Amino acid sequence: MHVIVTCECCGRRHSLARPVDRPQVLHLICHGCERCLRVEVSARDMRRDVPLGAAR
Ligand SMILES: [Zn+2]
Repeated sequence: MHVIVTCECCGRRHSLARPVDRPQVLHLICHGCERCLRVEVSARDMRRDVPLGAAR
């Protein structure tokens, strides 16, 4: 699954370099405001290919 994360702080969108193949929690640094974005990929998300919102 290809994950796209939108930063809630600055609105910048990021696509993860690696595809996600199982439910997990990911962290990445926003390229816009350099905040740490926490991304939860749930089992339900795995069935859809939709953009995820990031908390913080
Ligand atoms: Zn940001």
